Amino acid sequence: MRALTFNHAALTIDPRVADPAPLGSHAIIRATRLGLHPIDVAVARGWTTHTGIIGRECIGLVESVTGTAEEAARWTGKRVLLQTTLVCGACTQCRGGNAAHCPERRVAGVCGRDGFCADRIAAPLNSLVEVPKSIGEDVAIFAYAMADAVHTTQVIRAEGKTFVTVLGDTLDALLVARLMTARNATVRLLCQTPAILTQCEKWGIRARPMSEVGMRHDQSVVVDCAHETAHLEPAVQMLRPKGTLIVRSAFAAVPPKCWNADAKRTQAVIPTDAVVANEITIIGARAATLAEGLDLVSKTGTDLLPLITRRFKLADGVSAVRAAADSGNLKVIVEP
Ligand SMILES: [Zn+2]
Repeated sequence: MRALTFNHAALTIDPRVADPAPLGSHAIIRATRLGLHPIDVAVARGWTTHTGIIGRECIGLVESVTGTAEEAARWTGKRVLLQTTLVCGACTQCRGGNAAHCPERRVAGVCGRDGFCADRIAAPLNSLVEVPKSIGEDVAIFAYAMADAVHTTQVIRAEGKTFVTVLGDTLDALLVARLMTARNATVRLLCQTPAILTQCEKWGIRARPMSEVGMRHDQSVVVDCAHETAHLEPAVQMLRPKGTLIVRSAFAAVPPKCWNADAKRTQAVIPTDAVVANEITIIGARAATLAEGLDLVSKTGTDLLPLITRRFKLADGVSAVRAAADSGNLKVIVEP
């Protein structure tokens, strides 16, 4: 079969990858839609230690099941999303209800597990999320991004806050701003990417370039969704005393052990003096579950389709990753 693979020298489409081997309580899934994520771009830049198949967003059809007759009847022929992260289920975090923080977690296309950019994928049955027939594939693929974005509204209530700012030229910033605007009309998104500003106008989200706003210490909440180019310094300057800074990262799912120590990657620096002087609360917000993301996109529906700015065939997967590195491309889709 074909797969998009990274081997630390290059990203290539390999046409001779062995089909995934069937394992107990696993399904073999034929990919029908793949989404690219900023982590895929980071992997292709050699920022992580991952080698092998990349990609962490996939919808596909279950072709076969290695399991009980009941499991085969339950899943064969179903259209599913594949959970990106597999956890150990046995460590203190997993047993304490904090499985997202499992130190042994394996992340598709990033750490300890092949990714999904391939014709076929093997996945444990307990990692499948069924996609209802009513949700189209181009909408359902946003379940991953929406699961990330909605967690912000789970860690802080936007309702009733005086002023709320979302920062960033990312799909994540746009989705977070949309979700928070529904709860608080004062929410504004600060960004400069034309595609995002256009979408904000369509969705009724207040949006302005960051260069046009003053640092007035008047915001109750600032959500920094700029990811690797985080704006923590101006974010703190915008916050009122005792305000709350929510920090997001596209790379939060990467276990620390899987970062490449030699990667030329810059991390944002927290302006400690200003944080302490103004008694700012800082919260890191990662992701909700894929099922929660799917539930949300089923309600949002075809509104999301204009966010798909480029489409590629799997055979042209290298160009797809290159396109995904351009912040002007909100969502890049790959079709096998
Ligand atoms: Zn664990």
